[in-house]
Amino acid sequence: MEIFNEHQQEVAETLRRETSKSDWTDWKWHIRHSVKSVDDFERVLGVSFPEGKKRIFERTVDKFPMSVTPYYLSLIDPEDYENDPVFHQSFPSGEELKIGRFDMTDPLHEDEDSPAPGITHRYPDRVLFHISNLCSMYCRHCTRKRKVGDRDSIPSRDDIEQGLEYIRNTPQIRDVLLSGGDPFMLSDERLDWVLTRIGEIEHVEVVRIGTRMPVVLPYRITDELVSMLKKHHPLWINTHFNHPREITTSARRALQKLAEAGIPLGNQSVLLAGVNDCQRLIRTLNHKLVKNRVRPYYLYQCDLSEGLTHFRTPIGKGIEIIESLRGHTSGFSVPTYVVDAPGGGGKIPVMPNYIVSWGPNKVVLRNYEGVITTYNEPESYEPNYCDRDCLNCSLQLKEDDAEEKAIGIEKLLSDWDDTTSLTPENNERLERRDDAA
Ligand SMILES: *Cc1c(COP(=O)(O)O)cnc(C)c1O
Repeated sequence: MEIFNEHQQEVAETLRRETSKSDWTDWKWHIRHSVKSVDDFERVLGVSFPEGKKRIFERTVDKFPMSVTPYYLSLIDPEDYENDPVFHQSFPSGEELKIGRFDMTDPLHEDEDSPAPGITHRYPDRVLFHISNLCSMYCRHCTRKRKVGDRDSIPSRDDIEQGLEYIRNTPQIRDVLLSGGDPFMLSDERLDWVLTRIGEIEHVEVVRIGTRMPVVLPYRITDELVSMLKKHHPLWINTHFNHPREITTSARRALQKLAEAGIPLGNQSVLLAGVNDCQRLIRTLNHKLVKNRVRPYYLYQCDLSEGLTHFRTPIGKGIEIIESLRGHTSGFSVPTYVVDAPGGGGKIPVMPNYIVSWGPNKVVLRNYEGVITTYNEPESYEPNYCDRDCLNCSLQLKEDDAEEKAIGIEKLLSDWDDTTSLTPENNERLERRDDAA
């Protein structure tokens, strides 16, 4: 059989004792056999935790439930599980019960920026659409930990209809990001239905799916799923690899199927203390990703969600990682490092400073090697005064000057708006909140 190694066989057999039929490559088998209790975890992994520790684990599971697919569990090295990156991402830690001073249940204010069920509308032209609150594996570092395992909040068909209605009625939305939970927890038919409904909305130009299935349950990427997805282009997929160990033969095969269906693939990693907070490790991960046609998209600073304190690194660690990538390796192996602003301000990119100084005629820059260089600004640059009349502009965009507003810093820079300062009250995102309230 394809990827079946000895250890995986052991895991399957431990679970199979209680089932009449099982197939390691059947994704539904993994969902049915997801490991949800500390006892089962011990049994399947073949380890036993000291009694005191076990009680703490169980208390943690009571607050933040556990669920691990047999596949993902089989990646753990039982000989050294305490240092294992897969173990840390899937098994509860007593540290989760320590709520830090700055922790919040919903640090990104996703619930507040929600004008319709399942919709988070934060940016002008795109929305997050939560179409599933289920995951095959509960990541211990989940930013939506508040919702994990909350079975009452599986969106009904009616909830999804309301989200679709909001998208239909909001013409500025050109990009819909399906998220969850994991959208691939839906059946192919249900997902096909959602994608078809979105496809019928004329102003939606592109759909993205955020899924961790290629990492935690690659057998979900079936031929049937992929041939259904192919009907819905332009479709992009972002996945969530955090450690090179996760790029197994099965994961590679899943990525290959998606790539061969013409789906551009991206990866969003989260910087996690004790899992991947290492320059060399992230570089290796990104190299493996691009070898498998996955573009590293974002590296996230760990959010201020409750129960994640022990995973947090200083932002400086992330900047150091980017410093070790930019220039040192292919540009497309360098993700954008972002801090998702607490309070719902969205993603803020952070990186090392490359501008050393600046005068009216020159910019002094430094490169990754420490070379300091001068860029002479052009002596004659005729700036286009922009009055947004693109039809008569020499740049030939030839779009009519449709109702388009500038937002944020872009507005302060624009020629055609006299605003000189911004106050947090006067922005569209907060107006949407008021409308919804
Ligand atoms: C991350 C995110 C998006 C997508 O952001 P991109 O930078 O376009 O990938 C959209 N909406 C919300 C609420 C998000 O958190």
